[in-house]
Amino acid sequence: MDATILDEVAWQIDLPQLKQQLGIKEGGSYAAETEGMAARAEAIGRPKAMYKAGLIESRGEDHVVIEGRTFKSRVLAVNLEKVHRVFPFVATCGVEIEEWSSAFTSVLEKFWADAIKGLALGASIFALLEHIKEQHHPGDVSMMNPGSIESWSLSEQRALFSILGAPEDSIGVELMESCFMKPSMSVSGMWFPTEHHFENCMLCPMENCPGRRAPYDKELYDRKYKKDSRG
Ligand code: SF4
Repeated sequence: MDATILDEVAWQIDLPQLKQQLGIKEGGSYAAETEGMAARAEAIGRPKAMYKAGLIESRGEDHVVIEGRTFKSRVLAVNLEKVHRVFPFVATCGVEIEEWSSAFTSVLEKFWADAIKGLALGASIFALLEHIKEQHHPGDVSMMNPGSIESWSLSEQRALFSILGAPEDSIGVELMESCFMKPSMSVSGMWFPTEHHFENCMLCPMENCPGRRAPYDKELYDRKYKKDSRG
């Protein structure tokens, strides 16, 4: 099956939410400036995403084979134990808004532009998930991303990108030699059906992370993923 490409993602910036996120007071000196930036970004921005429904062809204690590519991760293998189909994806704020943001030189404007690009990326992830749910009815899903936890190396981006075909040609996301993506405001990973919600953050001890989506559970790895804990 070919990858599905979402290159016309509708998005609208929630101005009160953006200003709250940036600590900008309504009617204050920065409010008009951020409103202007947001309007321009909204006109220019084209958030995009692509994904594929991929079958798990074989599996082991520390790996799964999806569409002919082997992914090595103990946590991924355990999370996919009862799963037969996954949804590898790449989502991005888009090259258009990335180019727009590169013109800013002041620290403050760059900070605001990054927040706006984050909203564009959020819109593409939301559209992607809605599309997967509408088309494939996977039930409750969770997401894992190469490089987000120790157990799944960033280098596995190469296999993920190769499953999808040509994300650079399709949605403008380049996989660099370092395995980071360009535009940097992009996310790659796999959605998978699960009865037990999983967040990478549950296994990540990083303190004071502004993006944390779940508390760190320092006993979770030993309890659920360590081989000798599973009998
Ligand atoms: S806590 Fe932060 S760094 Fe760690 S996985 Fe979550 S978002 Fe990523």
